[in-house]
Amino acid sequence: MRPLLSERARTLPYSGIREIFDLAGTMEGVIHLEIGEPDFDTPRSIVDTSFRAASAGMTHYTSSAGIPELRSRIADGLTRELGIPFDPAEVVVTAGGMEALLLAMLVTLDPGGEVIVPSPAWPNYEAHILLSGGVMKRVRLEESQGFELDPGAVRDAVSPKTKILILNSPHNPTGAVLDDARLRAVSDVARDRDLVVFSDEAYASLTFDDRRFRSIASLEGMKERTVILRTFSKSHAMTGWRVGFLAAPRPLAERAAKFHEHTSACTSSISQAAALASFDVPAATTETMVREYERRRNLLAAGLSKIPGLRVRKTGGAFYLFVAVEAFGMPALELAKRLLVEGRVAVAPGTAFGPEGEGYIRLCFANSAENLQEAVRRMEAFFSRIRATTRTRA
Ligand code: PMP
Repeated sequence: MRPLLSERARTLPYSGIREIFDLAGTMEGVIHLEIGEPDFDTPRSIVDTSFRAASAGMTHYTSSAGIPELRSRIADGLTRELGIPFDPAEVVVTAGGMEALLLAMLVTLDPGGEVIVPSPAWPNYEAHILLSGGVMKRVRLEESQGFELDPGAVRDAVSPKTKILILNSPHNPTGAVLDDARLRAVSDVARDRDLVVFSDEAYASLTFDDRRFRSIASLEGMKERTVILRTFSKSHAMTGWRVGFLAAPRPLAERAAKFHEHTSACTSSISQAAALASFDVPAATTETMVREYERRRNLLAAGLSKIPGLRVRKTGGAFYLFVAVEAFGMPALELAKRLLVEGRVAVAPGTAFGPEGEGYIRLCFANSAENLQEAVRRMEAFFSRIRATTRTRA
């Protein structure tokens, strides 16, 4: 019998985060810092409004691009934030940022087309490039540069086949936020080398200290070559609602909506009602969440910094610490597994984000202060045992 599975299905990589998550699922008393998900509940007003909409009959298919009111609110929000006009026709509402990325990739990339991915990187980029028949080119993010993308390295990686550059700021897994000078330099490369930029802005609302997020689409000559990918998942603690959007030049948005018609017809009407309601949540509510994440980041970073052998950088955005563990001389996956089994703390091995993540682990601090404190205590004990029983440089 011929293989049941397609070549595509056979080669789709498994996520190194899932491996830890699944193993952790078989164990008791684990502190989960491996998955990137807000621990807050969706604000009550969003839940209530969407349930009312469903009760009132908003339970039918919508347009593939999304309900007009939501597309308008999104376009108005982007117009205000970026200082350049956005039209609702440039917006497509999707099942999370994840589907926005896939649709955008499918309508932009031809087979063999290259995509530059700053790495370590969110694993879904690799999978979506593979599903679209493209080729991934990783560009290394250096810890010595605060994991911020080096525009020169992007220029060097471009070939005649390169079509897309993925930008992700604030960055998963490192938390890096691109500063204005680098953003400008990257936009110069994109214009010079005629690249389409996929700006993954999933964590746009989560920046700390004096860091401020700025979309590359706001820079001169960039809107016409940028696909903005956003989600309500992180900004409003709405991961389970599966709602996000892309904003792109009109022909691209129109084709993405067309593809949407063939994948899921449209985003859930009830989730779209919820996303619409999120625009009426007071800024103070979301700001409170951000300041709470910042407090937890401080707490976790301070605790881990005291553990000999770990190298900790405070992150500028998102909700992750990307901690260097290379002093323990163990592959990141092995370390993550041992930390889980022996220390009862689940973290993501850096290699889940590509080979550039070797020597690191990622910890998500979207968790309660008590859990984070307990995780630090367990990690202190775990790493001191490792130091005592193995030859480490720590
Ligand atoms: N981009 C990045 C970098 C992410 O980390 C995530 C979620 N983990 C997403 C996009 C998409 O999230 P969602 O599909 O929930 O909107």
